[in-house]
Amino acid sequence: MVNESAEQPVKDTARNIGPVILLGPPGAGKGTQSKRIVDHYGVPWISTGELLRDHVARGTALGLEAKAIMARGELVPDGLMYGIVASRLREVDCHNGFVLDGFPRTPAQAGWLDAFLAKEVFENKADHTPGNLQNSPPIVIQLLVDYNQLLLRIAGRRSCPTCGRTYNIHTQPPRVDELCDVEGARLLTREDDREEVISERLAIYERQTKPVADYYRSQNRLIAIDADRPMEAVTAQIFSVIDGNSRGKG
Ligand code: AMP
Repeated sequence: MVNESAEQPVKDTARNIGPVILLGPPGAGKGTQSKRIVDHYGVPWISTGELLRDHVARGTALGLEAKAIMARGELVPDGLMYGIVASRLREVDCHNGFVLDGFPRTPAQAGWLDAFLAKEVFENKADHTPGNLQNSPPIVIQLLVDYNQLLLRIAGRRSCPTCGRTYNIHTQPPRVDELCDVEGARLLTREDDREEVISERLAIYERQTKPVADYYRSQNRLIAIDADRPMEAVTAQIFSVIDGNSRGKG
C-alpha cells in the first residue's frame, strides 16, 4: 500500500460517519464544505437543490412542477421533497453516511427526517441489512455567516454550462473574466442567484429555515461554526466535529 505524502491530507474513508447535515443560508459555503467532506470521508453529497435541478433538466413531472417555484426562490412543497430524499437515502452508497446539503429546510422536514431515519433503523435491523446508514445520529452543523458577506458571495457565483465547475467572481475568479478555465465557455449565473431573487431567498431562509436550527438547538444537537473565517479553517473544524462523533465501522 502506498503511503500518502506528508503534505496531503490523509483521506479517511474507513469509518461510518453517519448522516451529516449542513445548515446555513444560501452562500454560507455549504456546497464547498460538502465537497470537502465528501472527498475526505468518501461519502456521497446529497444536495436537494441539485436533485431538483436534475429533475428540471430532465423535464420529469416533478421537475416541471418544481421549476417555476425554484425560479421564484420559494420552497418546493414538502410532499414532493420527501419522495426524492427517501429514495436517494435508501441507495447503497449512503450506508456509511452522507452529507445532506439543503435539507431539512423547514422544521416539518426535520421532523420527517428524524422519523425516516428511526423507521429505517427499525426496518434495517429487522432484516439484518449490514452497515446501515443509521448507526449514528445525524451530526448537525450550522454555518454562521454575516449577511453582507452572503450577498457578495451569492451575487458572485458563476458556473460553467459545459463542465459544471463553479467560480466566484469575488473570491474564486476564473483566469479570464466570465470564462471557464477548462472549457472556455461563458459562465452562467444560476437563475435563482440573480440579484432580485437573492433577497427573497435570504428572507425565506430567515423565515423558514432558521426554525430548523432552533429545532436541533432545543434538542442540544446543533453545532454552530463561524463560517466567516477562511474556508480551510472552517473545514478543519468540521472534520474535527465529525471525527469526534463518528464511530468505527462495524
Ligand atoms: P439550493 O441549491 O439548495 O439553494 O436549492 C435551490 C432551490 O431548490 C431552493 O431555492 C428551493 O426552491 C429548492 N429546494 C432545495 N432544497 C429544498 C428543500 N429541502 N425544500 C424545499 N425546496 C428546496
